[in-house]
Amino acid sequence: MSRLEDLTVREALALVLARFAVLPAEEVALLEALGRVSAAPVVAGDDLPPFANSAMDGYALRAADLAAATRDAPALLRVVADIAAGTNPTTAIGPGTAARIMTGAPLPPGADAVVPVEDTDEPWRDEARALPERVAVYRRVDAGAYVRWPGEDIRAGQTVIPAGHLIRPQEIGVLAALGQERVSVVRRPRIGVLSTGDELIDVGQPLSPGKIRNSNSHAQAAQVIALGGEPLLLGTAKDTADDVRARLDTAVAAQVDLLISSAGVSVGAYDVVKSVLDEAGGVAFWRVRMRPGKPLAFGAYRGMPYLGLPGNPVSALVSFETFARPAILKMSGHDQLERPRVVAVVGENLRSDGRESYLRAVVSREATGGYVARTTGSQGSHVLTSLVKANALLIVPEGVREVAAGTALVALMIDWPGGVF
Ligand code: AMP
Ligand code: MG
Repeated sequence: MSRLEDLTVREALALVLARFAVLPAEEVALLEALGRVSAAPVVAGDDLPPFANSAMDGYALRAADLAAATRDAPALLRVVADIAAGTNPTTAIGPGTAARIMTGAPLPPGADAVVPVEDTDEPWRDEARALPERVAVYRRVDAGAYVRWPGEDIRAGQTVIPAGHLIRPQEIGVLAALGQERVSVVRRPRIGVLSTGDELIDVGQPLSPGKIRNSNSHAQAAQVIALGGEPLLLGTAKDTADDVRARLDTAVAAQVDLLISSAGVSVGAYDVVKSVLDEAGGVAFWRVRMRPGKPLAFGAYRGMPYLGLPGNPVSALVSFETFARPAILKMSGHDQLERPRVVAVVGENLRSDGRESYLRAVVSREATGGYVARTTGSQGSHVLTSLVKANALLIVPEGVREVAAGTALVALMIDWPGGVF
């Protein structure tokens, strides 16, 4: 007989997370790294910018030549070169001379500053415009004005991205600028997804008496994909020990990092998943004091981490959210394992059964500031549409049975409300 342990959500989560470590690294092409976590520090091989260049379309010159320049008494300089971005200027800028220069073009030798075109009598950016022989400059600037110096952003040898850092579009930009075509990131977790139950038919099948379509396999696979993992769909096992065992063994052979099943872990007469796991040993059955949720199986099946979710679709989604999501994020190298939380004032009277409850709710930001939470309808664990309407799970703490409108509760944001912050 399996042990039946009573656990709080916090206790159960701690036991789950303790079983997972960050997965090994792999090298991927630059864009494949998006959303992944760096597995090694990235050290710059070059300075960025690599050379001194102009921050403006304007004229490169010597600041000393402008010491007395004003709008009424401009400095008149001879234009000796035209420097487009991507070229390598060789003409030196001597006293009394200037070069027309475009943003990002290298500062020519001898120049120590740039004056924007707006501060000259040649305020055109059009490169097709003929190069003037002279330019009048209406103001003085300090040496170094509008010049971007080499290494201002990044110095060669500097660590620009530490290990364990989330690769977002801005990190992709830095990596591209540094010429990193490949990036070492934490491998994606592979997650086996198994559904069980004689009542289940495939998505493409017509309904027949007593049957429902298997929604969990797809919902949990989608949850895995949304987290950057790779689902391995193991199909629907019949309520027979042989079928359940065969499919679990397929997952073992495929060496998944975690196997998730739904249904068959409570105490129903046909809950064969439980008996198969009992016989293999290594999996504990928990009664987690949460709603929706409660029955949860966790441990290892033939050495493979195993999480058995309840069968009801909302219970499966919320239990995944609560236990599988943080485990998958941890394996993927993330350190932020929790959803953002806000404190929201409840807009109605609520009832609970004393278990820690995750109520499907919409949290919105009021014009006056502050968040308000309203539940989205039936909280039955088979009612998917109230989760479809929700952007948050509103937490009613353990031991609380009644919540009066106006009470402040913590909401876990599964999406973020629109509006001004
Ligand atoms: P069980 O844990 O087997 O008692 O299942 C609890 C409830 O969840 C039952 O109403 C099942 O029909 C339903 N259920 C189980 N697995 C799935 C699934 N893969 N897709 C949709 N509903 C399911
Ligand atoms: Mg069943």
